[in-house]
Amino acid sequence: MATQAATDSVEQVKMLCGGQWRAAGGKRSGEVYNPSTGQVIAKVPFCTVAEVDEVVQVAAAALPAWAETPVVERAQILFRFRELIKANFDELAQCLTREHGKTLAESRASVQRGVEMVEFACSTPSLIMGQCIENIAPNVDSETIRHPVGVCVGITPFNFPAMVPLWMYPLAIACGNTFVLKPSEKVPLSAVRMGELLMEAGLPDGVFNIAHGDKECVDALITHPLVRAISFVGSTKIAKYIYETGTQHGKRVQAAGGAKNHLIIMPDADLDQSVAALAASAYGCAGERCMAGSVALPVGEIGDRLVDRLCEKAGSMKTGPTSDGEGVDMGPVITREHLERVSGYLDIGVGEGAALPLDGRKVDYKGDGFIIAPSVLDKVEPGMRVAKEEIFGPVLSVIRAKDLDQALAIGRECEFGNGASIFTRSGWAAREFKRNFNAGMIGINIGVPAPMAWFPFTGWNKSFFGDLHIQGTEGIQFYTQQKMTMTRWFESADDSHHDPVWKSASGPT
Ligand code: NAD
Repeated sequence: MATQAATDSVEQVKMLCGGQWRAAGGKRSGEVYNPSTGQVIAKVPFCTVAEVDEVVQVAAAALPAWAETPVVERAQILFRFRELIKANFDELAQCLTREHGKTLAESRASVQRGVEMVEFACSTPSLIMGQCIENIAPNVDSETIRHPVGVCVGITPFNFPAMVPLWMYPLAIACGNTFVLKPSEKVPLSAVRMGELLMEAGLPDGVFNIAHGDKECVDALITHPLVRAISFVGSTKIAKYIYETGTQHGKRVQAAGGAKNHLIIMPDADLDQSVAALAASAYGCAGERCMAGSVALPVGEIGDRLVDRLCEKAGSMKTGPTSDGEGVDMGPVITREHLERVSGYLDIGVGEGAALPLDGRKVDYKGDGFIIAPSVLDKVEPGMRVAKEEIFGPVLSVIRAKDLDQALAIGRECEFGNGASIFTRSGWAAREFKRNFNAGMIGINIGVPAPMAWFPFTGWNKSFFGDLHIQGTEGIQFYTQQKMTMTRWFESADDSHHDPVWKSASGPT
């Protein structure tokens, strides 16, 4: 096991370097909490800069043999990995709930989304195929072939401890690259358990490695001369930093950032379905989703009814610790500091003149977990901080719009551009919204339009830095570089007996 009981009975999380699990040697370490209890459940020693160099060197040394391994054999290991995740599904979901606080149902769903990414990566032999034009000029054939890019790095956030790493490394290694994962230091346990299963599936040592740490470790990875490509998911400030620093050091970078996602409710929308979808979008995973709905834009006269019904629905959600098993609709947020930050945004909103018809701080809970219930901020204006900044917690800001044009204009002002949804019965309104809203992922009567593995995660504006998005065939493009070959052979007298059948005078016999 890659975690072990330390003397103080708190697990020590290990790094993975060249197939060996060991505690990193840095003097600094992070604490992993169970957000449902507020207790420290693990310590994660951080890698030194020398250890980061060692991990990258190991990944570089494993590269030639792995890149040379036939893609169908690489995919076979991922088929076995997929079976192992399925066989350990409940244990993985429980691990995730323990370190992150999601409900078990949410953890299961996120592991399932990750499994789909492994399944997508299993089809790499089909996806990686090149293209060819025979006789592009007389006797000249032209073809493209996809090659691995080299050592790839993945840096991941706290909110999806298993799924987001699975957006990256299955596809990267299926394409023949080697990989170093730097999981969030707040939630390294699920990523480490997944790494154990990947090694059990038969992956050669050094192809997949895990380094732990914070900024020091990240900086050493993204500037390392042997690293060729960087995948990042996290907040916008850090995504921008990773993109700028990585590209300045000659790396290929895809960096997904934060979000502020709008949900438009047209006057003709089905109120029951819309309220259910809004509550699931804003409060699912305690609002800690880059695709969470965080601004509701009721259009016209539906506003009052919507806010009443939303407060009723959100107020009836059972919020509490998820460690006791099922029966909770919403779990804790990730840390005490984050709880205070989210709660601070409610004060900011009220200070700016918003109403607070549902205050999640008035939750009936006495323990040490990081619990805050759903909140609704109403009468929010587009210029307010609670309308513009990512809160990343269970808070929905409601801005009343007079018509669809005004709702679209509010979207245009937003610096982010991940997701947006409309709730309507009108095909015209849906089409206008789909074509004109300033975001990369669009939902029509869907609260969380997060693409599944086969489609790219197409964030716009400050929700994404780079050219090729994560997931889907853009992921294949990101983790490969193309080589174009032009070929011409000259016929010689010796070749006359190789005349193809279709050219021979007698034709096929
Ligand atoms: P974060 O940016 O704080 O951390 C992400 C990663 O960056 C972690 O591994 C962390 O160790 C590292 N990091 C943190 N500070 C750093 C620094 N100064 N220099 C270098 N590396 C640093 O994000 P988080 O709080 O873990 O996750 C929440 C954020 O992630 C939210 O903004 C959310 O919207 C975003 N997110 C985006 C997507 C997407 O697809 N767009 C998906 C999930 C989460």
